[in-house]
Parts: sequence; structure tokens; C-alpha cells
Amino acid sequence: MTTILKLENYKVYYETPNGYVRAVDGVNLEVEKGEILGLIGESGCGKSTLVMSLVLPKPPMKIMGGRALLGKIDLTKLSWDERRKILLTKLSIIPQYALDALPVIKKIGAFLSDLAKDKNIPEDQVIEKFIERIKLVGLPTNVIDMYPLELSGGMRQRVIIALSTIFSPDLLIADEPTSALDVSTQRQVLELLRNLRDTGIVKSIIFVTHDIASVRQIADRIAVMYAGKIVEISSVEEIIKNPLHPYTQGLIRAVPVLGINYKKKRLSGLPGQPPNLLNPPSGCRFYPRCKYATPKCIKEEPPSVNINSRIVSCWLYVKEVPKK
Ligand code: SF4
Repeated sequence: MTTILKLENYKVYYETPNGYVRAVDGVNLEVEKGEILGLIGESGCGKSTLVMSLVLPKPPMKIMGGRALLGKIDLTKLSWDERRKILLTKLSIIPQYALDALPVIKKIGAFLSDLAKDKNIPEDQVIEKFIERIKLVGLPTNVIDMYPLELSGGMRQRVIIALSTIFSPDLLIADEPTSALDVSTQRQVLELLRNLRDTGIVKSIIFVTHDIASVRQIADRIAVMYAGKIVEISSVEEIIKNPLHPYTQGLIRAVPVLGINYKKKRLSGLPGQPPNLLNPPSGCRFYPRCKYATPKCIKEEPPSVNINSRIVSCWLYVKEVPKK
């Protein structure tokens, strides 16, 4: 299997007057060619920081260590000019709040001419590529002559998808791409993203969300993030049917199940709050909320263990080596 993205002990902090906020703190993660990896977790767990830092790490965000290999390119070492060259061609993003990402005072066509200049590619080639994509996303070609304000939310999201995949990037990051859309448009956007992967227009996708229902519809594997760390990675079915990490168990329990009357049965959400990442707890970062926590969890950070190709970071799954 070919690995498209490999993160090794990757750390991204925010510099603040009170110290560093350890938003992404030692993440190891691989995205394989042809896969859609769902990245899930509560707000503030570091998932958006992680993906934005790959695309555009700008202050107060600071890459503090590790490597982020996109093929052979270490993204942590790129200058701004080198990064600009690979954006849209090798790595692309549908940003959070993408609906506001298009400049309202410019027609889509004017935006394409800017893009052609920026990439030093003849404008007619860029327009030709865009028309190919715009047909694929199911929009009429006359959107080129329209202002973003003239488009509905769903149409604007499709334009953003067409633009972000215009040069067939190896890796597409979709950061909460459906959160501002109505349910039927959400489903269409998920189908569109899967189609982009199935037709090979993008090789792999990282789909960032806090919504388990949508990640379930689109992803092959899921990585669960908590307080700056990846705590579990498994296939979608395994995570949904048999979550291993106590945090993942809480997340799955918090999802409503069809057929249950929640007036009678309360949704069992996760009690407590995530820790302050300016000063995270020692040991396992989930221990203040974990009903299985032991003194060892408070003192020592659990290692990541591999159980039948599932990765989990929790002392419950670490086998004690018998003393001789
Ligand atoms: Fe809970 Fe301990 Fe596992 Fe952390 S390491 S999730 S505190 S049991």
C-alpha cells in the first residue's frame, strides 16, 4: 500500500502571552492512497489545527516538532514559495466556513484569472479544467459569469469543491465541509467527495468532522482525536460497533440511535470538559473524565498499541510483561 501522508510525532502549538497551547501534541498518523480517513473529536480537540497546519501554518500557530511527509516532501520544512507551489496541485483544502471563502465582489471567472496568474498557467487551460470540474459537481458552466452572492450555499460549496480539486491534488482535506448545509445538500456533498476519490481525481481525503453520522457515510477508517492526541484509529465498522478507547465509547454513546425514545432514555453524553491545553494533565489527558482511570493513568502517558491493525492509546490495552 502507498502512503500519501505520514505524520511522525507531529506537534503544533499556539504561542500566547501565557505560554504554549499544545493543540497538536505528538501525533502519529498515516493516510493511505485511495482512502478516506475521517478525523473526529469534540470542538477544540486540535483536528482543525492539525489540518490547517499542513496547508498554511501561520502565527500564532507554530510547528514545534516531528515530520509531516506528503510523499517525499516534508511539509514542516517548506518555505512559503515552496508551499504555494504544491497547494492545489499536491495538497488542497476545503476550509471550514468555505461558504465565505470566495471574494463576494469578484465573479468566479475573475477568480480563475487570478489563479492562472498565481500558478503561471495559461488562463484558458485553467478555465477548461474548471469547466470539467464544474460539470462533475453538477453545476451549469455559466457560474463562471456569476458572483458568489448569486449562488445558494450548496452551489457555493460545489464551486469550492471544483476549485480545490482543479489540479487533481494527491490529498484533499475537507474541514467540516457539510456543517453549514441542509441535510439533503449534505448528502450530495458527501457523495461528491466520495466520487472524487473513486474516479481518482484526488488520491486520498481527510474528512474532518465532529459529526459521526456523516463520517460513517463516507470514511474508510476513523482517527479519533482528544486534547491534541490521536487516541484510536480503526475501520469505520469497528469504531461504531466496538469502540476501544473510553473516549471513543463516550462519543459513540452520545449519538442518537434510530428507534429509541429519548424522552424516556437520556442520551449518555460525555461528562466533564476537555483539559486546558495551556497546561494539560500529565499522564493520560482523558483521565479526569475517565471512569476506568487508575493511578498509573494519572502519572504515565499510555503508549499506542496495535490490536489486530487497530491502534489505541490506553493503559487498559497494554499487556503487563510478567516479572521473571
Ligand atoms: Fe482511561 Fe486510563 Fe485509558 Fe486514559 S489510559 S483512557 S485514563 S483507562
